[in-house]
Amino acid sequence: MQSHGTTRADERRVRSLQTSNLQNDGPSHAGPNTPRSYAPRDPEACLLTCLLRDHLDDFIARCDDENHRPLPRFVQRQLRAITTCGDLGHGFVRLECNRCRGPRVVPFSCKVRLCPSCAGRRMNEQAAHLLDRVLPHVPYRQWVLTLPGELARVVAFDADLATAIFGVFADEVGRWQRERADKGGFAAAETGCLLEIQRFADGARLYPHAHALVPDGVFVAGADGQPVRFIRQDPPSDEDVAHVVSRVEHRLTRVLGRWRARVSMDSDDDDILPACADVPPTELVRLLGHNQGHERRPAPKKPLCARSPGGLELHAEVTIVAHDRKGLERLCRYLSRPPIPQDRLERRADGKYVLSLKRTWKGGVKAVVFEPLDLIARLAALVPAPYLALRRFHGVFAPHHHLRARIVPTPSADSAVPAIPLAPERPGRMRWADLLMRVWAIDALKCPHCGGRMRPIAAIHAPDAITAILAAVQSDKWSVRATGPPDPDRQLVLDAA
Ligand SMILES: [Zn+2]
Ligand SMILES: [Zn+2]
Repeated sequence: MQSHGTTRADERRVRSLQTSNLQNDGPSHAGPNTPRSYAPRDPEACLLTCLLRDHLDDFIARCDDENHRPLPRFVQRQLRAITTCGDLGHGFVRLECNRCRGPRVVPFSCKVRLCPSCAGRRMNEQAAHLLDRVLPHVPYRQWVLTLPGELARVVAFDADLATAIFGVFADEVGRWQRERADKGGFAAAETGCLLEIQRFADGARLYPHAHALVPDGVFVAGADGQPVRFIRQDPPSDEDVAHVVSRVEHRLTRVLGRWRARVSMDSDDDDILPACADVPPTELVRLLGHNQGHERRPAPKKPLCARSPGGLELHAEVTIVAHDRKGLERLCRYLSRPPIPQDRLERRADGKYVLSLKRTWKGGVKAVVFEPLDLIARLAALVPAPYLALRRFHGVFAPHHHLRARIVPTPSADSAVPAIPLAPERPGRMRWADLLMRVWAIDALKCPHCGGRMRPIAAIHAPDAITAILAAVQSDKWSVRATGPPDPDRQLVLDAA
């Protein structure tokens, strides 16, 4: 590493560069034998970044003026970070070709959950990690718990309550599975659950709910080093789903009792974020032939969905068969998808933002339209509180469970595309170039000049160095260098720049 004020964080950045510098939006259908070449992402092409860059200061000022309640610092920090994401002017990692010394610079990413490009990277990285390192080859079922409106609102801004409520949910699904296993003669059966808390729904709505990805069966440890057996269970019936949701509701009565006692003791109800979540769209875009008074008929009752008297809803109809690893990876990606995907947002000629919906709402609404500051308000409400863990592992998937090491897959045997080396200092983080290759079949370390291999050599933060190196990269000086063999003296010239 060269000295440009290098820290441990920089070293990690160099090793695990960002994926999001892409113009490509989705997985490639090219096979692993035909990798494409890497093209940096244009940060100006990200509408959300441009929105925040142009209007964030106005929004923060509006919060101060109208409400006399400032926007919380953690929200300001995260929204501000998105404005610098992918911008070479805020620093980058330098790469160099091993053969011709040709240069490449890759800008830093913001790593904010709401940033469409960073969330895209997180989504693919986490899905690949779950497939390679956590989820064994067994059938899965997705259980989804949604909360009634008032409770959802409270849970959205109370991390402890969210943890308690969704913990009860994961616990009750596991308990129901163990009770069935017990009846079937497997008294010491263990269950597993990957719980993902999502804070949003279509249309940038604040809507906390939980997805639990649960093996459709239980694990039974063999005696004395024998392999762990997976005992498949029959699918739940409608009655089973109703039974689980009523148990969850029963236990929530106590959880909510404790919460009320705590809240009445320290009532500090002065937060601006709930008001941000309530900002309405300026306009609803409807499908042709629909008008405001035209409501669709209520949807027919779906199988394996149940609603408790208190308004909790549980859905358990989505399943993935054991050999469908691609389907499982898709579902894992869905669990950590960004709240506002880039391809759903458009800016109209009048300066308003149109967010198209994944599913048409009642009355044929297919998109919602926001003024710029109102869309930022919605975003602000979606920023999760710092240190709130939105993903949790229960049962055999929990980090310290005694069976975990015996059931998780081994990466080399399970990876369809080249074996995935993980950055050694942070298990679970995939290297940028490996992720690009796996998800988009892009060879990010191939030199555009000579086809040789490139390697990261330094993280650059200092404004002077940023300016000098960017000027050098864009000048002819460097393109001449890129044609010759390695030359140690010329390398020194570059470092001094
Ligand atoms: Zn970002
Ligand atoms: Zn080269």
